[in-house]
Amino acid sequence: MRFPDNAGCAPIASPYGSPTRYDGSSRRTGGGPGSTHGGIDLTLAEGTPLLAVAAGTVFGHGTGGMMEGHYLWLLHLPQRSGLPFAFLTKYQHLAVRPTLPHGQEGSLGQEVARSGLTGTVGGHYGAAGYPHLHMTVRTILSDKVASTTSLESFSIVRDTIQVDPLVLYVPSLRVPEEAEDLPPERKKVVASYVDSKGSVQPPLARTVWPVACDLVR
Ligand SMILES: [Zn+2]
Repeated sequence: MRFPDNAGCAPIASPYGSPTRYDGSSRRTGGGPGSTHGGIDLTLAEGTPLLAVAAGTVFGHGTGGMMEGHYLWLLHLPQRSGLPFAFLTKYQHLAVRPTLPHGQEGSLGQEVARSGLTGTVGGHYGAAGYPHLHMTVRTILSDKVASTTSLESFSIVRDTIQVDPLVLYVPSLRVPEEAEDLPPERKKVVASYVDSKGSVQPPLARTVWPVACDLVR
């Protein structure tokens, strides 16, 4: 993943699949086998606006325990996002629990929450916690897309596949099955993003970085 020169985008502090946290400490400590990173982390000041990475709708929100905090799920169906597959995004450690109603529509790059450090205080990150966004992306199995209208008929664990969030920025990706094991070479893409004036760059992009660029100091 690269960013356009001088765009000032928040970099990834801990990538998907990483065995370590942003500070180099091991995720495997007490975590059991397979405790690698299930999303990407961006180190952000508390209150940083978080953007819909693609057009979609609110799918749910809540408050988890440690390592989750306040969270928000967005549903991105192809007819709204313009991407060739359906997927969910989850934003964690939010400053406050979102109040957006289920089904509320959000456009590409629209602010959907503010970053925080909920679910990080007093755990692996110490008493002060770690203000950051953890973002997870899960592609929805093709035959389960029709049942995404209600949480009752849909299982996030059974009906979706966790993937590297960077696959959203790979323009040539066709199917979710391809997203699961994308070779590192194909992830060497330039991120699309929202600039300081609120414009999507490049203008025809269908996904953006979850934080506007030029906002990072
Ligand atoms: Zn994380």
